[in-house]
Amino acid sequence: MKYKIVNYKKIINKITNKDKLFIGDYIIDPYQNCEFGCKYCDSSYEDIVYIKNNFINRVKEEIINLSKGTIIIGSVVDPYQNIEKNYEYTRNLLKIIKENNFNLHILTKSDLILRDIDILSKINDVSVTFSIISLNQKLSDFFETKVPSSLNRLKIVEKLSKKGINSGLAIIPILPYLIEKEIVDIIDSAVKYKSNYLLFKHLELKGYQKEIFYNHLKLFDSNLPNKYMDLFGSNFIPNSEYIDYINDLIIETCGKYNLSNVIK
Ligand code: SF4
Repeated sequence: MKYKIVNYKKIINKITNKDKLFIGDYIIDPYQNCEFGCKYCDSSYEDIVYIKNNFINRVKEEIINLSKGTIIIGSVVDPYQNIEKNYEYTRNLLKIIKENNFNLHILTKSDLILRDIDILSKINDVSVTFSIISLNQKLSDFFETKVPSSLNRLKIVEKLSKKGINSGLAIIPILPYLIEKEIVDIIDSAVKYKSNYLLFKHLELKGYQKEIFYNHLKLFDSNLPNKYMDLFGSNFIPNSEYIDYINDLIIETCGKYNLSNVIK
């Protein structure tokens, strides 16, 4: 993995189309691209991570001009990827968010977030979301090679919840033909490990992503690319029949557990 320090015009981006899933007003990503290398993620398709030059000072300058709201960190790239151990951009960003009284929703797959419990617990309104794709170790290991196991991620959700930090699980992305049979078990685990909510999002394959992902998929199961081609057609998401089927299954199952599908 290569790293490069790069100048960025703007660090804090205002969300103009209200985000219903992650719920927030601003997006901040300390890094561009992600070294965790999940095979379904376009943030991992380049072999380079860009480090935002003068990140902390720039955030301080920009944040004072913003009206209060919720900042989302980690919706594009993981804020706790390995480079964070050296730069501590995310840790310092949390301090700024706390000092300026903004709310926070942070998403990650990394146990490095445990380092920052001290600051997270001092932010007024904070939610931490961990995403998984499966409880099946073989499947997760194939698509997510460099992050803690799904079980360890669940244990971190439990740990944070027990510390009083609002934490939840997300099934992102939903991989068709691979996880349907375990959706109920995942929801059951979310409840068992004290997740306060369960979010979910379907796989999106835009432009060149399709070809790259289908090539990975072929190595996992040679029958799957054709099935995905039928399901996606020329769209970047699965067909509406499939989406409705999965949405109904998840919402109905969560309903039985009284588990919210929005951040509480
Ligand atoms: S951890 Fe998140 S951002 Fe990083 S490669 Fe995986 S899905 Fe992409």
